[in-house]
Amino acid sequence: MSGKIDVKSRPLRAGSLLGCLLLATALPTLAEEAEDYIEVLPGTLPVILTAPHGGDQKPASILARRYGVVAQDQHTAELTRMIVEEMEELYGGRPHAVICRLHRSKLDCNRELDEAAQGDAVAMAAWTRFHAAAAKMGEQIRETHGAGLTLDIHGHRHEAARVELGYLVKGTQLNVSNEVLNATPELWKQSSVRELDQRSPQSWAELIRGPQSLGALLERHGFNSVPSPQQPQPGQEAYYSGAYGIAAHGSREGGTISAIQVECPWRGVRDERQNRRRFAKALALSLGEYFRAHFGMTLGQSRASEASSR
Ligand SMILES: [Zn+2]
Repeated sequence: MSGKIDVKSRPLRAGSLLGCLLLATALPTLAEEAEDYIEVLPGTLPVILTAPHGGDQKPASILARRYGVVAQDQHTAELTRMIVEEMEELYGGRPHAVICRLHRSKLDCNRELDEAAQGDAVAMAAWTRFHAAAAKMGEQIRETHGAGLTLDIHGHRHEAARVELGYLVKGTQLNVSNEVLNATPELWKQSSVRELDQRSPQSWAELIRGPQSLGALLERHGFNSVPSPQQPQPGQEAYYSGAYGIAAHGSREGGTISAIQVECPWRGVRDERQNRRRFAKALALSLGEYFRAHFGMTLGQSRASEASSR
C-alpha cells in the first residue's frame, strides 16, 4: 500500500534506479508514519487505558472524515496521562496506555475501521497501531496477571454532569430492578465485563451498581456516576453504554480482559486542570478496591496475591 506517501516533498530524479532505491529506504512506511499519531505507553499493572478521542492533530496529509461524529473529547488525552501518573504514585507500577493524537475529524478509533478511517491509508495504519497495541497489552496482562481491565476514557457534554460508565448494556436495559437484572443472563453475556462477572464473587447487579461497583467507588471519592447505588438506572437522561473500543478490548467475545467505557462530564471533571487531577486520583484509588473486590487481586502485587489465593 502506498496511497498516502507524499512523494512531492522529496525531490528524486524520475526513472533512476538510485532514485527508486532512495525512495524505498528514505520514505517512511505507512506504519512508521502512523507511529507518530498513536502514543503507546507500556505498563506493568493489569490495567489498560485507551483514549481514542483526545487527540488534536489535524495533518493536511490525512483526509477529513466525511461522516460520523467528529468532535474531540477535550482534555481526555491529558486526563489519561494523569491517571497513569496517579496509579504509578499509588501502586508503584504503571497501567498500560494507548492515546490517539489525531483529531477525531481525521480518525475515530472508537469505530470499526471503515467508519474510523474512511479509506485514508495513514489513518487506517494509525487505527491498526492503536488496536494492535491495546491487544498486545491485553496479551501481556493475561500472561503476567491472568486477567485485567481496559478503561476506555472519553468525555461527554450531556446535561447531567455525571460519569457515565458503559458496559455495552443500553440505558433502557438498565432501567430495571436488580432482581430483573440478575434474572436476565443475556445482559451480562452481551456486556464488556462478561468474564469479570464470572470471576467476581458478587452478583451481576452488584458488579455494575452495587456498593463496590466502579460507580460506587467513584461516588465515594466525590464524583457522581451512573450506574451506581445512588443512581442505579440512567433513567430518561442521555447515557453512553459504550462502543467499538470496549467491544474489541473487553471480554464479550471471550478472554480475561474486561472493559468499561468511562465517559467524563465536562463540568467538574474535565473543565479545569485541578479537577482533572482530582478525578485521576479518584479513579486510581477506586481501581485498587475494585480489583480487590472483583478480581481478587492487589494492584501492584497482583502476582503475589494471586499465588497466595490459590
Ligand atoms: Zn469519546
